[in-house]
Amino acid sequence: MCNDTHVGVVSNEFQLLADATNTQDRVENIKLCPHCDLIVELPKLKVGQRAICPRCHSLLSIRYYDNPFIVPIVYALSALIMLALALSFPFITINIAGRFNQIFISTIPKALFNENFAVLSWLFIGFVQFIPIVSMFSVIILCLNLKLPGHLMRWLARLLFAMKPWCMAEIFLVGVLVSFVKLMSYGEIGIGISFIPYCLFCFLQIKTYQYIDINTLWQRIDKQPKLVRLPQPGQSGIVQGFRLCHCCHAILPDNQHICPRCFVKGYIRKPNSLQWTLALLITSAILYIPANILPIMLTTALGKVIASTIFSGVVLIWQEGSYPIAMIIFTASIMIPVLKMLAISWLCYEINKNDNKNNERLLIVYEIVEFVGRWSMIDVFVIAVLTALVSMGQFMMVAPASGAIFFASVVILTMISANMFDPRLIWDRHAQSVKKEV
Ligand SMILES: [Zn+2]
Ligand SMILES: [Zn+2]
Repeated sequence: MCNDTHVGVVSNEFQLLADATNTQDRVENIKLCPHCDLIVELPKLKVGQRAICPRCHSLLSIRYYDNPFIVPIVYALSALIMLALALSFPFITINIAGRFNQIFISTIPKALFNENFAVLSWLFIGFVQFIPIVSMFSVIILCLNLKLPGHLMRWLARLLFAMKPWCMAEIFLVGVLVSFVKLMSYGEIGIGISFIPYCLFCFLQIKTYQYIDINTLWQRIDKQPKLVRLPQPGQSGIVQGFRLCHCCHAILPDNQHICPRCFVKGYIRKPNSLQWTLALLITSAILYIPANILPIMLTTALGKVIASTIFSGVVLIWQEGSYPIAMIIFTASIMIPVLKMLAISWLCYEINKNDNKNNERLLIVYEIVEFVGRWSMIDVFVIAVLTALVSMGQFMMVAPASGAIFFASVVILTMISANMFDPRLIWDRHAQSVKKEV
């Protein structure tokens, strides 16, 4: 596919656009880096090439195939077929002391509803079923370029990229594997007919998003809005009075708050970015206390109820000898949330320092925080699977407990907190000429 040929360059170093005959042609090839605000002029990418920002080394654009729309359609369609199969057949079976139970993916939310944990049920439906399905349909409709009204296409494209971090099918799958290990000591676990299709669905869904390029897709929906002057490559957008539309990645004058291409409101920097980030961070830090003190799960075995917290769950798995799984849960549920909160606090602290050191390191920390945050949902999905699967009355049953809701809130709030942080502030810090945040 991609042969790793990097072409991240500032155009005045190369004669990249000799064939561009007018300003608009050139604007189509100019990108504003969403991570560091550098204006970069790109050549027309050949198949297999990717464009990397020369300042922060973020990926700006990538070209996998001559026709960039066919492959995502194939992947998205295959993903939907696999999901339809996965939803139609039993997913997991369990046999504890001769008592047999099997679950379908679609019965998991119902089990959570029955335990009066409707919030967890809605989160499961949203993150594992609704958002992935809508995303795949959106890809197909957008890539087929169906003659739908323009506003509908724009709305779908906006939705597609907004939903990406909230597609958690693969995290649910890891949660299922962890549940297997948790249940091994109780009985016999088996996979149902739909297990393999669901694994394939997760893989195909990830591939679909991988092959969708935001710039190419929006370029097809509508051209980059006309600009009266050309952004100069090699300088920050904020210095020249240009802003990036965070939704469709169009370059716009900084005083144009509504993007004419996607109609999304935006500013040169996210307004009150640090305040929002810190407010959400403090809220999640407060919620993290009950999330750890209160039990997240209640296990009833032969009439005896055992309440387990996140930490006691890890200790139990460790004592049973499943060291890798204990490490996964410890990392996802304890280490990641804590390190994530510390990392975001550190980023906010560094932003207020008036120097220009460690920019790349700060950006790497931010990207790691953005990437790993959602994986903390593993424990919530483990509880969902166990609740649905281990449902054998007084003999043995598992139910969620209130700590799980606090924990899910922590994960969601830290994800939003990281999203509210504007990484471009890292690069804005020392430039005296830079206009400060709106
Ligand atoms: Zn950059
Ligand atoms: Zn836009």
